[in-house]
Amino acid sequence: MHLTAQQLDRAVGTVVGSAVGDALGAPYEFGPTHPDDFVPHFGPGKGGEQPGGWTDDTAMAIAILDTLAAGLDVDSDRGIQSVIDGWHQWADEDGRGIGIQTVQVMHGARDRTERALLRSSEAVHTRTGRSGGNGSLMRIGPLALGYLDPDAERALQSAAERVTRVTHWESDNGAAATIWSLLIRRAILTGELDDRGVTDLVADGTGRHSRWSRIIDEARAATHPREFSEGNGWVVKAFQAALVAVEGASDFRDAIYRAIRGGRDTDTVAAIAGALAGARWGASQIPLSWQRRIHGWPGYTANDLARLTILAARRGESDRHGWPAGATMLNPHLRHTDPVRHPFDDGVWLGSQSAIAKLPPSVSAVVSLSRLGTREVPEGIESIRVWLIDAPGENLNLEWTLADATDVIAELRAEGREVFVHCAEARSRTAAVAALYASRHRGADLDSAWAALDGRRGGGILPYYDPAPFLRDAVARIVAAGRG
Ligand SMILES: [Mg+2]
Repeated sequence: MHLTAQQLDRAVGTVVGSAVGDALGAPYEFGPTHPDDFVPHFGPGKGGEQPGGWTDDTAMAIAILDTLAAGLDVDSDRGIQSVIDGWHQWADEDGRGIGIQTVQVMHGARDRTERALLRSSEAVHTRTGRSGGNGSLMRIGPLALGYLDPDAERALQSAAERVTRVTHWESDNGAAATIWSLLIRRAILTGELDDRGVTDLVADGTGRHSRWSRIIDEARAATHPREFSEGNGWVVKAFQAALVAVEGASDFRDAIYRAIRGGRDTDTVAAIAGALAGARWGASQIPLSWQRRIHGWPGYTANDLARLTILAARRGESDRHGWPAGATMLNPHLRHTDPVRHPFDDGVWLGSQSAIAKLPPSVSAVVSLSRLGTREVPEGIESIRVWLIDAPGENLNLEWTLADATDVIAELRAEGREVFVHCAEARSRTAAVAALYASRHRGADLDSAWAALDGRRGGGILPYYDPAPFLRDAVARIVAAGRG
C-alpha cells in the first residue's frame, strides 16, 4: 500500500527506536532501578557489546526485518523459514546474550525447520513448566511493517502467534506479541496509541481476553516501569513495563529513559518500548546523536535499519526513483554547487548532493538532509541522515528535527571533525539548517546568518539560496524560544 511520508517516518521509528532502546539499555542490564534524574549513556553491554552495540533483541528482530524486506510474508512457509534461518545464522556467527529459553529450544530441535522448533518449544515448556520469557516480545517490533494494509489486523495476529510460538510456547507470548504488534501498526498508520479492541484479537474462549484486559488495566494503574521491575524478564511484566514507559512519556527520549530507569532487564524493556515509542513519534524524533552510535549484527547501522524498514513496508520494492535500495538518488536535472565553507564555522561545509563527489579530504562526516542512495557517501566517511522533508505539513517533528540536525553537527565539530551538510541543491533545507546552526551554536545573529548564506545577489555563499517560508518560520521560532 502507499504510505505517506509521515507514516514512513513512524515505520522507520519503530525499528530504529527499538535498536536504540536496546543499545542504550544494554549497559544497565541486571542493574537496579534508577531515579527520575538518572540519564543513561551508551557503554559496554553486559554481553560484551561495544558502546552503541545492540544485543540479541535487535539481532533477532533483524531476522524478521530482513524477511519482510525481501518481500516475504512471515506467515508463510518460506517466510517463517527465512526468520528461523536468520536466527540460526546470528546464533552461529555471534549469538551474544541469547536468551536461555531460546537457546534451549534451538539446541533441542532435531533440525532447523519450523516443525522441529515447535516440537522443541513445546518440550521445553513441558519440561520446565513455563515458557514466558520476554524473548518473544523483544524481537516483534518489525513484524507490523508487513501488515499495514487495510484489514490486515487478523493476518498480523496470525503472524505474531506463528513467529512467537516456535520458541515461546505459552499463550501469553502470542497474546503479548499480537497486542504489541497491533499497537505498533496503528501508531505507524495514525500516530495514535490506540488500543481499542486489541484484546478481542487474543480472545479464544479460554479466558485470555479478560486476562489480557486485566494485564493492560494493571499497567494503566501504574505510573512508572519501576513498578514492574521485579520479574520483568517475564513477558507479562516486560509488556506492562514497556506500556507504562511509553504511555507516561512526553516524547521518544523520555519513553526510553523511563524504560531504562525501570531497571533489571533494561535492554529488553527499552527495546520493546522503543518499538512503540518510535512508531508513535517517528524516526525524526530519535536523537541523531543516538542514531549515529548504534550498530550490531550483521554489520548494520541505523542507516541499514532505515533502508530495510522502508523496503519491508513496501514489500521489498523500491519506489520509481529507486529509493531506498538504489545506489544513487542523484537526479541529473538538479543543480550543482561546489562545497563551500559555512560563513560562521570553517569546519562545516555546505553544498548540493552532487558535491559529495567533490568533498575536501578533511571532511570525515556527511549530514544529509535529502534522500540518499546506498553508494553516494564514500566508504570511511560517516553518513548521518536527517528525516527532513522540504514541504510544509510533511514533518512530524519539524522544530525538533531542525534543532537536532544542528546539534549533531555541533557534536561532530566538538569531536574535531569537519562536516559536509547538504540537501539536493543547497537551496532550502541546507540554508535553514546552516542558519540555525550559526545562531544556536555559533552565537550569530539570525538575520546576519541568512544574509551570509544568500548568494543570489552576491555576498552570500549559496548560489541557489531560497529557503522555504515554513522552514524560515520554524528556524525563527526555535531561535525565539531559545532566547525567551
Ligand atoms: Mg538483550
